[in-house]
Amino acid sequence: MRNWRFGLQFRLALGFAVILALSTGAVALFTGYVAERRVSQVQSEQDRVRANRIFVALAEFYDSNTGWPGVQSFVDRASFQSEREIVVRDANENVIADSRNRHFRHDDRSQRTFSDHDSDAHHPPLPPTLFTRIDSGGAPVGSALVLSRKHGKPIPVIPLDQTTAGLEQVEPSLSRLAGAVRKSLILAGIGAGAVGILLVLLLSRRALRSVGNLTAAARSLGAGDLSSRAKVTGNDEIAELGQAFNSMADALEDSERQRHAMVSDVAHELRTPLANIQGHVEAMQDGLLEPDATALGTIHQQALYLNRLVEDLRLLSATEARELRLELEPTSVADIIERVTDSFRPRAEAVSVVLDTATDARLPLLRLDRLRIEQAVGNLVDNAIRHTPPGGTVTLSAFRHSGRVRVQVADTGGGVPADALPHVFDRLYRVDPSRDRATGGTGLGLTIARQLVEVHGGTIWVESEEGSGSRFGFDLPVSPN
Ligand code: ADP
Repeated sequence: MRNWRFGLQFRLALGFAVILALSTGAVALFTGYVAERRVSQVQSEQDRVRANRIFVALAEFYDSNTGWPGVQSFVDRASFQSEREIVVRDANENVIADSRNRHFRHDDRSQRTFSDHDSDAHHPPLPPTLFTRIDSGGAPVGSALVLSRKHGKPIPVIPLDQTTAGLEQVEPSLSRLAGAVRKSLILAGIGAGAVGILLVLLLSRRALRSVGNLTAAARSLGAGDLSSRAKVTGNDEIAELGQAFNSMADALEDSERQRHAMVSDVAHELRTPLANIQGHVEAMQDGLLEPDATALGTIHQQALYLNRLVEDLRLLSATEARELRLELEPTSVADIIERVTDSFRPRAEAVSVVLDTATDARLPLLRLDRLRIEQAVGNLVDNAIRHTPPGGTVTLSAFRHSGRVRVQVADTGGGVPADALPHVFDRLYRVDPSRDRATGGTGLGLTIARQLVEVHGGTIWVESEEGSGSRFGFDLPVSPN
């Protein structure tokens, strides 16, 4: 049985799931990355705009106070509002205010410089190059540094613009972020689509190779090469189709072989009686044989045999091709037994065989083609009489058996050898060819009987033991389809 894990359906489902997961993952990752980068860009731009505002405010503070007194509390306030740390140096590069020391200066409103302060050791030294100049009236009056925090670490912020024009600058709009996300979504979509196409191509390649294989095999079979077979690999639905195709090709090849065998068997069957007729006629023509009643009788008998053979072949070919038209009507099996017995009684008496019947009177009527079933029973009785020695008995019976109606012909003849038993229903099969032909057997009687029974939905069977008689029979369904 096919393992579901190797099925095409499972592989396709898995493939699509992988593609879906990959594309969703790719879109999520890529978009997340782009959005994060954009957000941090926007943040740093905002930082720089804010830093610029602080610088402008410091310059204004200096102007309005004509110096730096009180700058520490100004810086503390500005730092609190902007959530940034601010360090201010005077023109001599001395730190005069540092928002990071805010809590130490809570009550201290004096103008101590940063260098006086004991907290100097807590902060790593700030490189002077990071400080940006503050001008008043065109002259430098000091410098300052704004620190932002990123991942808990202080980051120096370079102000965007030192002029007041910077103040007017609008903070970077978030609409640019939406645009970037949209663009990244499209790019990720295209990327995931390309990967998806690649995956589908890879997944379908093996399946398509098997289909191509099958197509080639079908073409060559169609062109008449009955030995053509599909190469079956794997365990999926296409492999199953390949196996079905190969069984069909086996059956075709087998039937072609049977057709050949049939033609040669039939030719062989025709040759013997024809050779007999030809021999007799030529002997008469040569004056070697008198055209008396015996010679003419032999020729007539051979002609009759040929006639029967041809008729049997015609009937067999019609039943095998399902061309036989059945005239089904409610029929009494007991009647059939009686009619067959009556027609064979003279023949049985001629060879001193007793013909007996045992029929269940309560059998239901069956929908049958009476003549066809009569022929099937007739073939069995004909065989039984031919194979029963004088003094023997042939018994025809009909009775209920396992929900069906059984018709049985039992004889007290020589029986069928065990090795021949499986073949007795085969076409042109004879246990003893010369003896059976001599008694008028065509080797088709049982084959025809089987076909006639099977077209009625029945099954034919045989039970026999060499030396102790045979029982041939068939079972018919009570209500055939
Ligand atoms: P035929 O018409 O030559 O008898 P059949 O198809 O009817 O061919 O039978 C096939 C073979 O089965 C025959 O060769 C015959 O030997 C054997 N056979 C059929 N019926 C009996 C029987 N009742 N007893 C013994 N052998 C039988």
